[in-house]
Amino acid sequence: MPELPEVETTVRGIAPHVTDRIITRLAVHERRLRWPVSPRLPAWAQGQHIRAVRRRAKYLLLELDKGHLMVHLGMSGSLRVLPVSTARETHDHFDLEMDSGWMLRFNDPRRFGSLHQLSGDPARHELLRNLAPEPLEDAFDAEYLHKALRNRRVAIKQAIMNGQLVVGVGNIYASEALFRAGIRPGRAARSLSKAESAALASAIKTVLGEAIESGGTTLRNYVGADGEPGYFKHQLYVYGRAGSSCVVCGTPVRQRVQGQRATFWCPECQR
Ligand SMILES: [Zn+2]
Repeated sequence: MPELPEVETTVRGIAPHVTDRIITRLAVHERRLRWPVSPRLPAWAQGQHIRAVRRRAKYLLLELDKGHLMVHLGMSGSLRVLPVSTARETHDHFDLEMDSGWMLRFNDPRRFGSLHQLSGDPARHELLRNLAPEPLEDAFDAEYLHKALRNRRVAIKQAIMNGQLVVGVGNIYASEALFRAGIRPGRAARSLSKAESAALASAIKTVLGEAIESGGTTLRNYVGADGEPGYFKHQLYVYGRAGSSCVVCGTPVRQRVQGQRATFWCPECQR
């Protein structure tokens, strides 16, 4: 599943190819995505400039003259910049054709992705208005996290993953950040000291930042038909390593199911 770093990498990968272009045609081949695509969208989008592309949580926002197009990659979606003449394949659901002769093509086998038209301020859209802070922004810091965890009985891993405290910390990055911070995933959120909250806020920024950086090497994969866009292997210390030696102390990494998701941790390094 694309997580925040993959979405951020997608934004950076497509930005140079879509910014300042004019939409010549939006061809929607499959309207039945997670939410039905509005039949009015192609006529609305046609002729508008793409002024910028950015990200909020795991939503991509294309800023146009009269509003925004909002794309979510869902479970299996990807965006690609391809020549307009490129033959359509299975699961290619919409094409945003531009005056450059290139198009932004959306492919999504599971169809949990989405495409919305936003006329007003994106921050007020129903899917965005209640979102928690971005993990990489300054508002997400030790003080904020400590305060937010104070009354939560839920396990710390679930607290940072549920989207109410911070957006975009998926299962892989939650396990990795807790390892870096030396905190056991099953501990009650409210048991974290101020110092531990600081270590965790910092670890979340580090693991996401490193993943985005390693994704930078895949940017060229967003253009043309070669390579797999959006998914990259990143240095993982505990995730998916059950039974292997901890890279720090050599103790076998443990795994258990927590909130229906696989959790990995080192029983020595994490307290
Ligand atoms: Zn260890």
